[in-house]
Amino acid sequence: MVNEYQVRVLPQVAANEQSLRTWLAEAYGFDVRTVTALRILRRSIDARQRTIFVNLKVRVYINEPPQDDAYQHVDYPDVSDRPAVVVVGAGPGGLFAALRLIELGLRPVVLERGKDVHERKRDLSQITKTQQVDAESNYCFGEGGAGAYSDGKLYTRSKKRGSTEKILNVFCQHGASVNILADAHPHIGTDKLPRVIENMRNTILRSGGEVHFKTKMTRLLTDGDRVTGVEAIDQASQTSPLVCRFYGPVILATGHSARDVYRYLADSHIEMEAKGIAVGVRLEHPSVLIDQIQYHSRQGRGRYLPAAEYSFVTQVDGRGVYSFCMCPGGFVIPAATDSRQIVVNGMSPSNRGGQWSNSGMVVELRADDVEGSDPLRVMHYQEQLERDCWQQGNMRQTAPAQRMADFVNHRLSYDLPRSSYAPGLISSPLHFWLPQGVSHRLQEGFKAFGRMSHGFLTNEAVMIGVETRTSSPVRIVRQPDTLMHVRLAGLFPCGEGAGYAGGIVSAGVDGERCAEMCAEYVGQNATPWG
Ligand SMILES: Cc1cc2nc3c(=O)[nH]c(=O)nc-3n(C[C@H](O)[C@H](O)[C@H](O)COP(=O)(O)OP(=O)(O)OC[C@H]3O[C@@H](n4cnc5c(N)ncnc54)[C@H](O)[C@@H]3O)c2cc1C
Repeated sequence: MVNEYQVRVLPQVAANEQSLRTWLAEAYGFDVRTVTALRILRRSIDARQRTIFVNLKVRVYINEPPQDDAYQHVDYPDVSDRPAVVVVGAGPGGLFAALRLIELGLRPVVLERGKDVHERKRDLSQITKTQQVDAESNYCFGEGGAGAYSDGKLYTRSKKRGSTEKILNVFCQHGASVNILADAHPHIGTDKLPRVIENMRNTILRSGGEVHFKTKMTRLLTDGDRVTGVEAIDQASQTSPLVCRFYGPVILATGHSARDVYRYLADSHIEMEAKGIAVGVRLEHPSVLIDQIQYHSRQGRGRYLPAAEYSFVTQVDGRGVYSFCMCPGGFVIPAATDSRQIVVNGMSPSNRGGQWSNSGMVVELRADDVEGSDPLRVMHYQEQLERDCWQQGNMRQTAPAQRMADFVNHRLSYDLPRSSYAPGLISSPLHFWLPQGVSHRLQEGFKAFGRMSHGFLTNEAVMIGVETRTSSPVRIVRQPDTLMHVRLAGLFPCGEGAGYAGGIVSAGVDGERCAEMCAEYVGQNATPWG
Protein backbone atom coordinates (compact mmCIF):
# COMPACT_ATOMS: atom_id res chain seq x y z
CA MET A 1 0.00 0.00 0.00
CA VAL A 2 1.22 3.51 -0.78
CA ASN A 3 -0.31 6.48 1.07
CA GLU A 4 0.38 10.19 0.82
CA TYR A 5 -0.09 12.54 3.79
CA GLN A 6 0.02 16.31 4.15
CA VAL A 7 1.29 16.98 7.68
CA ARG A 8 2.47 19.82 9.91
CA VAL A 9 5.13 18.76 12.41
CA LEU A 10 7.70 20.26 14.74
CA PRO A 11 11.24 20.72 13.31
CA GLN A 12 12.69 17.95 15.52
CA VAL A 13 10.18 15.47 14.03
CA ALA A 14 10.85 16.56 10.44
CA ALA A 15 14.63 16.43 10.90
CA ASN A 16 14.81 12.71 11.59
CA GLU A 17 13.26 9.98 9.42
CA GLN A 18 12.75 7.58 12.34
CA SER A 19 10.90 10.24 14.38
CA LEU A 20 8.76 11.06 11.37
CA ARG A 21 7.87 7.39 10.80
CA THR A 22 6.85 7.06 14.46
CA TRP A 23 4.86 10.29 14.35
CA LEU A 24 3.00 9.23 11.17
CA ALA A 25 2.28 5.74 12.53
CA GLU A 26 0.74 7.22 15.66
CA ALA A 27 -1.19 9.93 13.79
CA TYR A 28 -2.63 7.59 11.12
CA GLY A 29 -2.87 4.38 13.10
CA PHE A 30 -0.56 1.99 11.25
CA ASP A 31 2.19 -0.23 12.61
CA VAL A 32 5.55 1.53 12.20
CA ARG A 33 7.22 -1.85 11.52
CA THR A 34 5.22 -2.20 8.28
CA VAL A 35 6.76 0.96 6.75
CA THR A 36 9.27 -0.06 4.08
CA ALA A 37 10.15 3.45 2.89
CA LEU A 38 9.21 7.05 3.22
CA ARG A 39 9.66 9.77 0.62
CA ILE A 40 9.35 13.52 1.24
CA LEU A 41 7.54 15.08 -1.72
CA ARG A 42 7.24 18.67 -0.46
CA ARG A 43 8.86 20.50 2.46
CA SER A 44 8.46 24.10 3.64
CA ILE A 45 9.00 25.92 6.91
CA ASP A 46 6.22 27.95 8.44
CA ALA A 47 7.93 30.56 10.65
CA ARG A 48 5.07 33.04 10.85
CA GLN A 49 4.28 32.27 14.49
CA ARG A 50 6.44 31.81 17.60
CA THR A 51 6.13 28.02 17.29
CA ILE A 52 7.79 26.99 14.07
CA PHE A 53 6.29 24.15 12.03
CA VAL A 54 7.50 22.19 9.05
CA ASN A 55 4.86 21.42 6.41
CA LEU A 56 5.48 18.11 4.69
CA LYS A 57 3.87 16.10 1.95
CA VAL A 58 5.02 12.53 2.56
CA ARG A 59 4.61 9.30 0.60
CA VAL A 60 4.66 6.20 2.80
CA TYR A 61 5.25 2.69 1.44
CA ILE A 62 3.59 0.09 3.67
CA ASN A 63 4.42 -3.59 3.21
CA GLU A 64 5.73 -3.01 -0.30
CA PRO A 65 9.05 -2.03 -1.86
CA PRO A 66 9.48 1.64 -2.83
CA GLN A 67 9.34 2.50 -6.53
CA ASP A 68 12.49 3.82 -8.13
CA ASP A 69 10.88 7.18 -8.76
CA ALA A 70 13.11 9.61 -6.87
CA TYR A 71 13.60 11.62 -10.07
CA GLN A 72 12.73 11.33 -13.76
CA HIS A 73 15.60 9.96 -15.77
CA VAL A 74 16.46 11.37 -19.22
CA ASP A 75 18.12 9.19 -21.90
CA TYR A 76 20.91 10.85 -23.83
CA PRO A 77 21.50 9.11 -27.21
CA ASP A 78 24.76 8.98 -29.19
CA VAL A 79 24.79 12.05 -31.43
CA SER A 80 28.35 11.80 -32.75
CA ASP A 81 27.25 11.69 -36.40
CA ARG A 82 24.37 14.15 -36.10
CA PRO A 83 24.33 17.81 -37.31
CA ALA A 84 26.27 20.22 -35.07
CA VAL A 85 24.87 23.21 -33.20
CA VAL A 86 27.33 25.73 -31.75
CA VAL A 87 26.54 26.64 -28.14
CA VAL A 88 28.51 29.65 -26.92
CA GLY A 89 28.83 29.73 -23.12
CA ALA A 90 28.81 26.87 -20.60
CA GLY A 91 26.62 28.53 -17.98
CA PRO A 92 23.25 26.97 -17.11
CA GLY A 93 21.71 28.40 -20.30
CA GLY A 94 24.37 26.80 -22.52
CA LEU A 95 24.65 23.52 -20.60
CA PHE A 96 20.90 22.86 -20.53
CA ALA A 97 20.68 23.84 -24.22
CA ALA A 98 23.45 21.33 -24.99
CA LEU A 99 21.79 18.50 -23.06
CA ARG A 100 18.43 19.18 -24.66
CA LEU A 101 20.01 19.24 -28.14
CA ILE A 102 21.35 15.73 -27.45
CA GLU A 103 17.87 14.57 -26.41
CA LEU A 104 16.61 15.94 -29.73
CA GLY A 105 19.32 14.17 -31.72
CA LEU A 106 21.68 17.09 -32.43
CA ARG A 107 25.38 17.38 -31.59
CA PRO A 108 26.28 20.32 -29.34
CA VAL A 109 29.67 21.96 -29.76
CA VAL A 110 30.08 24.03 -26.59
CA LEU A 111 32.59 26.91 -26.53
CA GLU A 112 33.55 28.40 -23.18
CA ARG A 113 36.02 31.27 -22.75
CA GLY A 114 36.89 30.25 -19.18
CA LYS A 115 38.42 27.15 -17.66
CA ASP A 116 36.83 23.94 -16.44
CA VAL A 117 35.00 24.19 -13.15
CA HIS A 118 37.89 22.80 -11.06
CA GLU A 119 40.75 24.70 -12.69
CA ARG A 120 38.67 27.83 -12.37
CA LYS A 121 38.66 27.53 -8.58
CA ARG A 122 42.36 28.36 -8.36
CA ASP A 123 41.77 31.69 -10.11
CA LEU A 124 39.02 32.53 -7.64
CA SER A 125 41.32 32.07 -4.66
CA GLN A 126 43.96 34.23 -6.39
CA ILE A 127 41.62 37.25 -6.27
CA THR A 128 42.08 37.55 -2.51
CA LYS A 129 45.79 36.73 -2.63
CA THR A 130 46.79 39.07 -5.48
CA GLN A 131 43.88 41.56 -5.55
CA GLN A 132 43.82 40.90 -9.30
CA VAL A 133 40.96 39.42 -11.35
CA ASP A 134 41.67 37.17 -14.35
CA ALA A 135 39.47 38.63 -17.10
CA GLU A 136 38.81 35.16 -18.57
CA SER A 137 38.43 33.10 -15.40
CA ASN A 138 36.53 34.51 -12.44
CA TYR A 139 33.21 34.24 -10.57
CA CYS A 140 31.29 34.98 -13.80
CA PHE A 141 33.40 33.27 -16.50
CA GLY A 142 34.25 29.59 -16.68
CA GLU A 143 32.43 26.26 -16.79
CA GLY A 144 29.11 26.46 -14.97
CA GLY A 145 28.87 30.19 -15.66
CA ALA A 146 27.96 32.81 -13.11
CA GLY A 147 26.11 30.40 -10.86
CA ALA A 148 28.81 27.72 -10.47
CA TYR A 149 30.23 29.25 -7.30
CA SER A 150 27.03 30.52 -5.76
CA ASP A 151 24.38 29.55 -3.27
CA GLY A 152 22.89 27.39 -6.01
CA LYS A 153 19.41 28.59 -5.19
CA LEU A 154 17.06 26.87 -7.55
CA TYR A 155 13.80 28.70 -7.08
CA THR A 156 12.33 30.85 -9.72
CA ARG A 157 9.26 33.02 -10.10
CA SER A 158 8.57 31.23 -13.39
CA LYS A 159 5.04 29.88 -13.55
CA LYS A 160 6.00 27.08 -15.96
CA ARG A 161 6.21 24.40 -13.35
CA GLY A 162 6.80 21.50 -15.78
CA SER A 163 9.86 23.20 -17.28
CA THR A 164 11.25 24.04 -13.85
CA GLU A 165 10.83 20.48 -12.61
CA LYS A 166 12.61 19.15 -15.68
CA ILE A 167 15.64 21.31 -14.81
CA LEU A 168 15.64 20.07 -11.20
CA ASN A 169 15.34 16.44 -12.36
CA VAL A 170 18.31 16.85 -14.71
CA PHE A 171 20.32 18.28 -11.80
CA CYS A 172 19.40 15.20 -9.72
CA GLN A 173 20.42 12.86 -12.53
CA HIS A 174 23.82 14.58 -12.45
CA GLY A 175 24.35 14.23 -8.74
CA ALA A 176 22.30 16.88 -6.92
CA SER A 177 20.40 15.71 -3.83
CA VAL A 178 16.77 14.71 -4.51
CA ASN A 179 15.87 17.07 -1.65
CA ILE A 180 15.79 19.82 -4.29
CA LEU A 181 12.61 18.23 -5.68
CA ALA A 182 10.88 18.52 -2.31
CA ASP A 183 12.10 21.79 -0.80
CA ALA A 184 10.02 24.92 -1.27
CA HIS A 185 13.29 26.88 -1.57
CA PRO A 186 15.76 24.35 -3.00
CA HIS A 187 19.47 25.04 -3.20
CA ILE A 188 22.57 22.97 -3.99
CA GLY A 189 25.48 24.89 -2.43
CA THR A 190 28.84 25.95 -3.78
CA ASP A 191 30.63 22.85 -2.43
CA LYS A 192 28.32 20.49 -4.39
CA LEU A 193 27.65 22.38 -7.63
CA PRO A 194 31.04 21.88 -9.35
CA ARG A 195 30.66 18.07 -9.30
CA VAL A 196 27.14 18.33 -10.76
CA ILE A 197 28.42 20.61 -13.53
CA GLU A 198 31.31 18.26 -14.26
CA ASN A 199 28.84 15.36 -14.57
CA MET A 200 26.74 17.38 -17.02
CA ARG A 201 29.85 17.99 -19.13
CA ASN A 202 30.66 14.27 -19.07
CA THR A 203 27.15 13.45 -20.34
CA ILE A 204 27.70 15.86 -23.26
CA LEU A 205 31.09 14.27 -24.08
CA ARG A 206 29.86 10.67 -23.68
CA SER A 207 27.01 11.36 -26.10
CA GLY A 208 29.40 12.61 -28.78
CA GLY A 209 29.15 16.36 -28.12
CA GLU A 210 32.21 18.61 -27.75
CA VAL A 211 33.24 21.04 -25.01
CA HIS A 212 36.09 23.49 -25.72
CA PHE A 213 37.45 25.48 -22.78
CA LYS A 214 39.53 28.68 -23.07
CA THR A 215 37.80 29.19 -26.40
CA LYS A 216 36.32 32.65 -26.78
CA MET A 217 33.86 33.53 -29.52
CA THR A 218 34.96 36.76 -31.18
CA ARG A 219 32.47 37.08 -34.02
CA LEU A 220 29.55 35.46 -35.80
CA LEU A 221 29.97 34.02 -39.28
CA THR A 222 27.16 35.05 -41.58
CA ASP A 223 25.89 34.46 -45.07
CA GLY A 224 23.60 37.44 -45.73
CA ASP A 225 21.09 37.41 -42.89
CA ARG A 226 21.85 33.82 -41.92
CA VAL A 227 24.28 32.92 -39.13
CA THR A 228 26.42 29.96 -40.20
CA GLY A 229 28.79 29.64 -37.24
CA VAL A 230 31.30 31.54 -35.12
CA GLU A 231 34.93 32.52 -35.14
CA ALA A 232 36.73 32.00 -31.86
CA ILE A 233 40.16 32.33 -30.29
CA ASP A 234 41.50 29.13 -28.78
CA GLN A 235 43.46 30.45 -25.79
CA ALA A 236 44.40 26.96 -24.61
CA SER A 237 47.23 26.84 -27.15
CA GLN A 238 50.64 26.87 -25.41
CA THR A 239 52.30 29.11 -27.99
CA SER A 240 50.01 31.83 -29.37
CA PRO A 241 46.20 31.92 -29.44
CA LEU A 242 44.72 30.19 -32.49
CA VAL A 243 41.81 31.54 -34.50
CA CYS A 244 39.33 28.77 -35.26
CA ARG A 245 35.89 28.41 -36.81
CA PHE A 246 32.92 26.32 -35.76
CA TYR A 247 29.95 25.84 -38.08
CA GLY A 248 26.26 25.40 -37.38
CA PRO A 249 23.35 27.43 -36.04
CA VAL A 250 24.37 29.31 -32.89
CA ILE A 251 22.85 29.37 -29.42
CA LEU A 252 24.42 32.46 -27.87
CA ALA A 253 24.37 32.03 -24.06
CA THR A 254 27.21 34.30 -22.96
CA GLY A 255 25.68 35.69 -19.77
CA HIS A 256 25.25 39.23 -18.44
CA SER A 257 28.95 39.98 -17.94
CA ALA A 258 30.31 39.44 -21.45
CA ARG A 259 30.57 43.14 -22.28
CA ASP A 260 32.92 42.43 -25.20
CA VAL A 261 30.12 40.38 -26.78
CA TYR A 262 27.60 43.21 -26.32
CA ARG A 263 30.12 45.67 -27.80
CA TYR A 264 30.76 43.40 -30.77
CA LEU A 265 27.00 43.00 -31.38
CA ALA A 266 26.44 46.76 -31.14
CA ASP A 267 29.34 47.51 -33.53
CA SER A 268 27.91 44.96 -35.96
CA HIS A 269 24.47 46.63 -35.80
CA ILE A 270 22.84 43.45 -34.50
CA GLU A 271 19.50 44.48 -33.02
CA MET A 272 19.54 44.97 -29.22
CA GLU A 273 17.81 47.24 -26.75
CA ALA A 274 18.74 48.66 -23.34
CA LYS A 275 17.13 46.83 -20.44
CA GLY A 276 16.54 47.82 -16.81
CA ILE A 277 18.61 46.25 -14.03
CA ALA A 278 18.82 46.79 -10.27
CA VAL A 279 21.79 48.28 -8.43
CA GLY A 280 22.79 48.57 -4.79
CA VAL A 281 24.97 46.78 -2.27
CA ARG A 282 25.43 43.44 -0.45
CA LEU A 283 24.20 43.62 3.10
CA GLU A 284 25.73 41.25 5.62
CA HIS A 285 24.38 40.42 9.10
CA PRO A 286 25.63 37.86 11.61
CA SER A 287 23.56 34.78 10.73
CA VAL A 288 22.66 34.35 14.42
CA LEU A 289 20.90 37.69 14.34
CA ILE A 290 18.88 36.80 11.22
CA ASP A 291 17.97 33.44 12.78
CA GLN A 292 16.81 35.19 15.98
CA ILE A 293 14.70 37.66 14.03
CA GLN A 294 13.16 35.21 11.59
CA TYR A 295 12.57 32.39 14.09
CA HIS A 296 11.36 34.77 16.87
CA SER A 297 13.71 33.25 19.41
CA ARG A 298 16.82 34.30 21.32
CA GLN A 299 18.07 30.73 20.76
CA GLY A 300 18.08 31.35 17.01
CA ARG A 301 17.66 28.35 14.75
CA GLY A 302 18.45 25.66 17.32
CA ARG A 303 19.53 22.19 16.22
CA TYR A 304 16.81 21.36 13.74
CA LEU A 305 16.20 24.42 11.57
CA PRO A 306 18.29 25.68 8.65
CA ALA A 307 19.89 29.14 8.58
CA ALA A 308 16.98 31.55 8.20
CA GLU A 309 16.12 33.34 4.98
CA TYR A 310 14.44 36.69 4.49
CA SER A 311 12.89 38.58 1.63
CA PHE A 312 11.97 42.27 1.67
CA VAL A 313 10.39 44.52 -0.88
CA THR A 314 9.05 48.07 -0.82
CA GLN A 315 8.57 51.05 -3.11
CA VAL A 316 10.42 54.34 -2.65
CA ASP A 317 9.72 57.28 -4.96
CA GLY A 318 8.26 55.11 -7.68
CA ARG A 319 11.00 52.47 -7.81
CA GLY A 320 11.24 49.05 -6.22
CA VAL A 321 13.75 48.51 -3.40
CA TYR A 322 14.24 44.87 -2.51
CA SER A 323 16.46 42.11 -1.19
CA PHE A 324 17.96 39.92 -3.90
CA CYS A 325 19.68 36.55 -4.03
CA MET A 326 19.83 35.94 -0.28
CA CYS A 327 22.61 33.65 0.93
CA PRO A 328 21.92 32.38 4.48
CA GLY A 329 25.09 31.25 6.25
CA GLY A 330 27.13 32.31 3.24
CA PHE A 331 29.95 34.56 2.03
CA VAL A 332 30.16 37.82 0.17
CA ILE A 333 32.44 37.34 -2.83
CA PRO A 334 34.34 39.49 -5.35
CA ALA A 335 32.44 38.91 -8.61
CA ALA A 336 34.18 41.42 -10.93
CA THR A 337 35.35 40.36 -14.39
CA ASP A 338 38.23 42.84 -14.50
CA SER A 339 40.77 44.10 -11.96
CA ARG A 340 39.67 47.72 -12.35
CA GLN A 341 36.14 47.26 -11.03
CA ILE A 342 34.46 46.05 -7.86
CA VAL A 343 31.32 43.94 -8.03
CA VAL A 344 30.04 41.92 -5.08
CA ASN A 345 27.72 38.94 -4.93
CA GLY A 346 27.06 36.03 -2.57
CA MET A 347 27.45 32.28 -2.26
CA SER A 348 26.82 29.61 0.40
CA PRO A 349 27.89 26.04 1.06
CA SER A 350 25.23 23.34 1.04
CA ASN A 351 24.90 23.35 4.85
CA ARG A 352 24.61 27.14 4.92
CA GLY A 353 26.64 26.94 8.07
CA GLY A 354 28.68 30.15 7.83
CA GLN A 355 28.71 32.89 10.47
CA TRP A 356 27.07 35.49 8.26
CA SER A 357 23.97 35.83 6.12
CA ASN A 358 23.96 38.23 3.18
CA SER A 359 21.74 39.46 0.41
CA GLY A 360 21.79 42.01 -2.35
CA MET A 361 19.86 45.15 -1.39
CA VAL A 362 19.03 46.80 -4.64
CA VAL A 363 17.05 49.57 -6.27
CA GLU A 364 15.23 49.14 -9.56
CA LEU A 365 16.85 51.04 -12.43
CA ARG A 366 14.77 51.36 -15.59
CA ALA A 367 16.34 51.79 -19.02
CA ASP A 368 14.64 55.21 -19.26
CA ASP A 369 16.37 56.32 -16.05
CA VAL A 370 19.62 56.50 -18.02
CA GLU A 371 19.71 59.26 -20.64
CA GLY A 372 20.20 58.60 -24.32
CA SER A 373 19.22 56.06 -26.92
CA ASP A 374 22.36 53.90 -27.01
CA PRO A 375 21.38 50.24 -26.42
CA LEU A 376 24.50 49.93 -24.23
CA ARG A 377 23.69 52.92 -22.02
CA VAL A 378 22.60 50.88 -18.98
CA MET A 379 25.75 48.77 -19.36
CA HIS A 380 27.86 51.95 -19.39
CA TYR A 381 26.11 53.17 -16.24
CA GLN A 382 26.75 49.80 -14.57
CA GLU A 383 30.40 49.86 -15.66
CA GLN A 384 30.93 53.40 -14.34
CA LEU A 385 29.48 52.51 -10.95
CA GLU A 386 31.77 49.47 -10.68
CA ARG A 387 34.80 51.62 -11.57
CA ASP A 388 33.79 54.32 -9.05
CA CYS A 389 33.52 51.62 -6.43
CA TRP A 390 36.99 50.30 -7.29
CA GLN A 391 38.40 53.82 -6.89
CA GLN A 392 36.66 54.15 -3.50
CA GLY A 393 38.17 50.77 -2.59
CA ASN A 394 41.77 52.02 -3.05
CA MET A 395 41.99 50.53 -6.55
CA ARG A 396 42.18 47.02 -5.19
CA GLN A 397 39.50 44.41 -4.56
CA THR A 398 39.10 45.73 -0.99
CA ALA A 399 35.47 46.81 -1.06
CA PRO A 400 34.10 50.10 0.29
CA ALA A 401 31.74 49.41 3.17
CA GLN A 402 29.60 51.14 5.78
CA ARG A 403 27.63 50.01 8.77
CA MET A 404 23.90 49.88 7.98
CA ALA A 405 22.58 52.33 10.62
CA ASP A 406 25.48 54.73 9.92
CA PHE A 407 24.46 54.73 6.25
CA VAL A 408 20.86 55.52 7.10
CA ASN A 409 22.03 58.33 9.42
CA HIS A 410 24.55 59.77 6.89
CA ARG A 411 27.50 58.92 9.18
CA LEU A 412 30.90 57.54 8.20
CA SER A 413 31.63 54.29 10.07
CA TYR A 414 34.69 54.66 12.33
CA ASP A 415 35.19 50.94 12.31
CA LEU A 416 33.64 47.99 10.51
CA PRO A 417 32.40 44.64 11.84
CA ARG A 418 34.14 41.40 10.85
CA SER A 419 32.99 40.19 7.48
CA SER A 420 33.11 37.13 5.22
CA TYR A 421 34.39 39.23 2.30
CA ALA A 422 37.91 37.79 1.94
CA PRO A 423 39.69 40.57 -0.02
CA GLY A 424 38.90 42.97 2.87
CA LEU A 425 36.72 46.02 3.52
CA ILE A 426 37.53 49.70 3.73
CA SER A 427 35.29 52.20 5.52
CA SER A 428 33.67 54.55 3.02
CA PRO A 429 30.72 57.01 2.99
CA LEU A 430 28.47 55.06 0.63
CA HIS A 431 25.62 57.48 1.44
CA PHE A 432 27.75 60.20 -0.15
CA TRP A 433 29.12 58.67 -3.35
CA LEU A 434 26.46 56.16 -4.43
CA PRO A 435 24.15 57.79 -7.01
CA GLN A 436 21.59 59.90 -5.15
CA GLY A 437 18.62 57.94 -6.57
CA VAL A 438 20.14 54.71 -5.24
CA SER A 439 21.45 55.97 -1.92
CA HIS A 440 18.27 57.81 -0.89
CA ARG A 441 16.02 54.90 -1.87
CA LEU A 442 18.20 52.41 -0.02
CA GLN A 443 18.09 54.58 3.11
CA GLU A 444 14.31 54.78 3.00
CA GLY A 445 14.06 51.10 2.09
CA PHE A 446 16.22 50.11 5.08
CA LYS A 447 14.04 52.17 7.41
CA ALA A 448 10.96 50.40 6.03
CA PHE A 449 12.58 46.96 6.42
CA GLY A 450 13.57 47.90 10.00
CA ARG A 451 9.91 48.64 10.73
CA MET A 452 8.80 45.35 9.14
CA SER A 453 11.35 43.32 11.04
CA HIS A 454 12.50 44.54 14.44
CA GLY A 455 16.29 44.37 14.80
CA PHE A 456 17.03 44.17 11.07
CA LEU A 457 18.18 47.80 10.80
CA THR A 458 21.32 47.66 12.91
CA ASN A 459 24.95 48.72 13.00
CA GLU A 460 25.89 45.06 13.38
CA ALA A 461 25.14 44.79 9.66
CA VAL A 462 27.55 46.04 7.03
CA MET A 463 26.82 47.21 3.49
CA ILE A 464 29.42 46.30 0.89
CA GLY A 465 29.59 48.04 -2.49
CA VAL A 466 28.50 47.48 -5.20
CA GLU A 467 25.99 44.94 -6.42
CA THR A 468 25.37 45.66 -10.10
CA ARG A 469 25.25 42.33 -11.95
CA THR A 470 21.67 41.60 -11.03
CA SER A 471 20.53 40.94 -14.59
CA SER A 472 21.43 41.81 -18.16
CA PRO A 473 21.63 45.53 -19.05
CA VAL A 474 20.77 44.60 -22.66
CA ARG A 475 18.16 42.53 -24.46
CA ILE A 476 19.21 40.89 -27.73
CA VAL A 477 15.90 41.07 -29.51
CA ARG A 478 14.43 37.78 -30.69
CA GLN A 479 11.15 36.61 -32.25
CA PRO A 480 8.77 35.41 -29.52
CA ASP A 481 7.59 32.33 -31.44
CA THR A 482 10.88 31.00 -32.92
CA LEU A 483 13.25 32.46 -30.27
CA MET A 484 15.47 33.36 -33.19
CA HIS A 485 17.06 36.79 -33.49
CA VAL A 486 14.67 39.30 -35.11
CA ARG A 487 16.80 39.54 -38.25
CA LEU A 488 19.51 36.89 -38.23
CA ALA A 489 18.26 33.38 -39.01
CA GLY A 490 20.14 30.64 -37.17
CA LEU A 491 21.02 32.84 -34.16
CA PHE A 492 19.30 31.98 -30.86
CA PRO A 493 20.10 34.58 -28.16
CA CYS A 494 19.70 32.60 -24.95
CA GLY A 495 19.60 32.88 -21.17
CA GLU A 496 20.39 35.77 -18.89
CA GLY A 497 22.82 37.57 -21.18
CA ALA A 498 20.22 37.79 -23.91
CA GLY A 499 17.80 39.32 -21.42
CA TYR A 500 15.41 36.35 -21.22
CA ALA A 501 16.30 34.79 -17.86
CA GLY A 502 17.38 35.73 -14.36
CA GLY A 503 18.80 32.90 -12.31
CA ILE A 504 20.08 29.38 -12.73
CA VAL A 505 16.74 27.64 -13.28
CA SER A 506 15.23 30.21 -15.62
CA ALA A 507 18.46 30.25 -17.68
CA GLY A 508 18.23 26.43 -17.85
CA VAL A 509 14.59 26.59 -18.94
CA ASP A 510 15.47 29.15 -21.61
CA GLY A 511 18.39 26.98 -22.76
CA GLU A 512 16.03 24.04 -23.27
CA ARG A 513 13.53 26.17 -25.19
CA CYS A 514 16.23 27.59 -27.45
CA ALA A 515 17.46 24.04 -28.15
CA GLU A 516 13.92 22.97 -29.11
CA MET A 517 13.47 25.94 -31.46
CA CYS A 518 16.93 25.35 -32.90
CA ALA A 519 16.05 21.70 -33.59
CA GLU A 520 12.96 22.85 -35.51
CA TYR A 521 15.13 25.26 -37.47
CA VAL A 522 17.65 22.53 -38.33
CA GLY A 523 14.78 20.23 -39.37
CA GLN A 524 13.45 22.89 -41.76
CA ASN A 525 16.86 23.88 -43.13
CA ALA A 526 18.52 20.64 -44.11
CA THR A 527 21.33 22.42 -46.00
CA PRO A 528 24.79 21.32 -44.90
CA TRP A 529 26.67 23.90 -42.80
CA GLY A 530 30.07 25.34 -43.35
C1 LIG B 1 28.23 34.84 -7.39
C2 LIG B 1 26.88 34.58 -8.01
C3 LIG B 1 25.92 33.90 -7.29
C4 LIG B 1 24.70 33.60 -7.87
N1 LIG B 1 23.80 32.87 -7.16
C5 LIG B 1 22.68 32.44 -7.75
C6 LIG B 1 21.80 31.57 -7.08
O1 LIG B 1 22.05 31.14 -5.96
N2 LIG B 1 20.67 31.18 -7.72
C7 LIG B 1 20.37 31.63 -8.98
O2 LIG B 1 19.32 31.25 -9.53
N3 LIG B 1 21.17 32.47 -9.63
C8 LIG B 1 22.33 32.88 -9.06
N4 LIG B 1 23.16 33.71 -9.73
C9 LIG B 1 22.77 34.15 -11.08
C10 LIG B 1 22.97 33.00 -12.06
O3 LIG B 1 24.25 32.51 -11.90
C11 LIG B 1 22.75 33.46 -13.48
O4 LIG B 1 21.44 33.94 -13.59
C12 LIG B 1 22.92 32.29 -14.46
O5 LIG B 1 24.18 31.71 -14.31
C13 LIG B 1 22.74 32.77 -15.90
O6 LIG B 1 23.00 31.70 -16.75
P1 LIG B 1 23.48 31.91 -18.25
O7 LIG B 1 23.87 30.58 -18.74
O8 LIG B 1 22.47 32.68 -19.00
O9 LIG B 1 24.78 32.85 -18.16
P2 LIG B 1 26.13 32.64 -17.35
O10 LIG B 1 25.95 31.75 -16.21
O11 LIG B 1 26.65 34.00 -17.10
O12 LIG B 1 27.08 31.88 -18.37
C14 LIG B 1 27.64 32.50 -19.49
C15 LIG B 1 28.90 31.75 -19.88
O13 LIG B 1 29.33 32.23 -21.15
C16 LIG B 1 30.74 32.33 -21.15
N5 LIG B 1 31.13 33.31 -22.17
C17 LIG B 1 30.94 34.65 -22.14
N6 LIG B 1 31.41 35.20 -23.27
C18 LIG B 1 31.90 34.20 -24.04
C19 LIG B 1 32.52 34.16 -25.32
N7 LIG B 1 32.73 35.27 -26.04
N8 LIG B 1 32.93 32.95 -25.79
C20 LIG B 1 32.75 31.80 -25.06
N9 LIG B 1 32.17 31.81 -23.84
C21 LIG B 1 31.73 32.98 -23.33
C22 LIG B 1 31.08 32.78 -19.74
O14 LIG B 1 32.42 32.47 -19.41
C23 LIG B 1 30.06 31.99 -18.91
O15 LIG B 1 30.57 30.77 -18.47
C24 LIG B 1 24.41 34.04 -9.19
C25 LIG B 1 25.36 34.77 -9.91
C26 LIG B 1 26.60 35.04 -9.34
C27 LIG B 1 27.62 35.82 -10.12
